[in-house]
Amino acid sequence: MRYVQVDTQSDPEATGFPSTEKQKDLAKILKEELKQIGVSDVELDEHGYVYATIPSTTDKEVPVICFCSHMDTAPDCSGKDVKPILHTNYQGHDIILPDDTTQVITTKQHPYLKERLGDDIITASGKTLLGADDKAGVAIIMDLANYLIQHPEIKHGKIRILFTPDEEVGRGVEKVDMKKLGASFGYTLDGGERGALESESFSADGAVAVIHGISAHPGYAKGKMVSAIKIAGEFVDALPKDSWSPETTQDREGYIHPTAIDGLIEKTTVKFIIRDFETSRLKEHQDRLEGILKATVAKYPGARYEFTVSEQYRNMMDILKDLPHVADYANEAMQRAGVKPEEHLIRGGTDGSRLSFMGMPCPNIFTGEMGIHSKHEYVSVQDMQKAVDTLVELAQVWEERTI
Ligand SMILES: [Zn+2]
Repeated sequence: MRYVQVDTQSDPEATGFPSTEKQKDLAKILKEELKQIGVSDVELDEHGYVYATIPSTTDKEVPVICFCSHMDTAPDCSGKDVKPILHTNYQGHDIILPDDTTQVITTKQHPYLKERLGDDIITASGKTLLGADDKAGVAIIMDLANYLIQHPEIKHGKIRILFTPDEEVGRGVEKVDMKKLGASFGYTLDGGERGALESESFSADGAVAVIHGISAHPGYAKGKMVSAIKIAGEFVDALPKDSWSPETTQDREGYIHPTAIDGLIEKTTVKFIIRDFETSRLKEHQDRLEGILKATVAKYPGARYEFTVSEQYRNMMDILKDLPHVADYANEAMQRAGVKPEEHLIRGGTDGSRLSFMGMPCPNIFTGEMGIHSKHEYVSVQDMQKAVDTLVELAQVWEERTI
């Protein structure tokens, strides 16, 4: 509840790093608290990353593991002056948020709340998001550090802690020093429902279609003008409306999605994101999309197009499939903590997808954060506690499985 009161909203338009300096306000608090807890190697670097070490308590050579969460909150909803409210012993009723009583959290909209009867639920007050995404993860890792330092009799290897800025703007791991981090395997704490264990994310590319038309004075344009704006309109209209889009797909289905149009008569640009769980299928989506573009532009003599694709991130399963023990240990740890593990797909990317390809295979573990990026965001205290319990077990599973 303290961490969410620090405004750490990131900014997708900013080019500096971190995207907003205020993210360091929380980083500084975490740095001081980590020192008070008594962990080692506490460092806040110039980019706003916080690194720390929970030292090993065993003679075994256990692989170094890392627990990671992000400090920033989503640009989609204000994170300024967050007023967290603790609703103890929640009984399934509608939660009316006091600072804007039109904001009501109901079990109809949020059925997961029905599973949380008797829990203590934290919400915001109606004007802002809560920021449980991902300060729940931060709090869980802080509590873990405190617990393990207080209980040196618990056997575990060296554990690295990493708190990142700018996850929500897709740049969270841009300046992570992997060598300094020095961990072989990692886990992000950024999942939702209790028991969620995520080892698969989308593979993602971006595509840009540039349509070139021919400009002319509108009064004398007959037979001369070719409007790139109109061609772009026809191109977007030619995309399927009942499939192949975010609003018509779920589970393992991929899609293409126009995210921005910017246009003049002479030149109009349409930006796309392309998503699939099968990395190899991205090329099929690109070819199909370019085919529709090509056919549309071909109807307009004098017009031409360019189509370029850039890689964004890859499904971490491409890495994790060869290292099943990383997720298996988390699965085992949840069961020991009395949590029923459930494998989920992430229809998006996480810091973990990128970290997996930077040399630190990194599934995602639940925190209890729900209704994220909105004023209806909430988190169960008991879910957070179960996540701490899971990490305590997980650290021990890694130690036990090391010969
Ligand atoms: Zn998050």
